[in-house]
Amino acid sequence: LIQINHLQKQYGNHEVLKDINLSVKDGEVVTIIGPSGSGKSTLLRCINLLEEPTGGELLFKGDNILAPGYNLPKYRAHVGMVFQQFNLFENHDVLNNCIVGQVKVLKRSREEAERIAIANLDKVGMKDFAHAKPSQLSGGQKQRVAIARAISMDPEVMLFDEPTSALDPEMVGEVLKIMRELTGTGLTMIIVTHEMAFAEEVSDRVIFMDQGVVAEEGAPEKIFQHPEQARTKEFLQRIL
Ligand code: ATP
Ligand code: MG
Repeated sequence: LIQINHLQKQYGNHEVLKDINLSVKDGEVVTIIGPSGSGKSTLLRCINLLEEPTGGELLFKGDNILAPGYNLPKYRAHVGMVFQQFNLFENHDVLNNCIVGQVKVLKRSREEAERIAIANLDKVGMKDFAHAKPSQLSGGQKQRVAIARAISMDPEVMLFDEPTSALDPEMVGEVLKIMRELTGTGLTMIIVTHEMAFAEEVSDRVIFMDQGVVAEEGAPEKIFQHPEQARTKEFLQRIL
């Protein structure tokens, strides 16, 4: 579904991503782990083009999305993202948060968008809060709304950037539960996380990033039980 070839990103002369090569198959759940500053968020932001790569290729279904003339708005509409800091529209209620993108970007009727939004809010256990404002919600509830909003756009791939890092510990579980349910639906997911037990449980493949490169990748049992690279071992020892 996604193929990344020799991807690079520099800020000035700071090379944040150096020659990233990665492919993600349709339906695959890939988690990205690695130290702070290794470039995990930058990689996700390049995949959905919140940042423009400074080199390399990004293929979606075989087409280079960085090529002139590629339909970027359409591509963006198919890529969902959930952020650490929720990024809900604070002046809209929960239901509207889940409707506006569908109406504006997908050109759905308000009725259809509302039906889809309610169904997805129900899936994440937030239907009863449809008319609440984000400011009235806990962090875990906000993140569940953010997930409902993203899946209401029928994404072909969902990107998660540390969706539980800003949450109080007692709310991490409710968000991981929703994400675990999503991994069972065939949705392609790329998840940056520090929740190692969760990564080991749900991933088809784990990517360990360090200093702007993919230092090691493989099945979760390989990365967590039998890492080969010294820096993977060192990272896991430090955090587990
Ligand atoms: P964390 O685990 O702390 O979230 P990360 O792996 O997500 O870290 P990034 O946020 O991708 O790391 O940052 C990688 C490097 O790129 C860091 O050194 C950061 O300072 C730098 N960087 C990120 N965004 C910018 C920017 N807009 N301008 C300049 N430098 C940036
Ligand atoms: Mg980050």
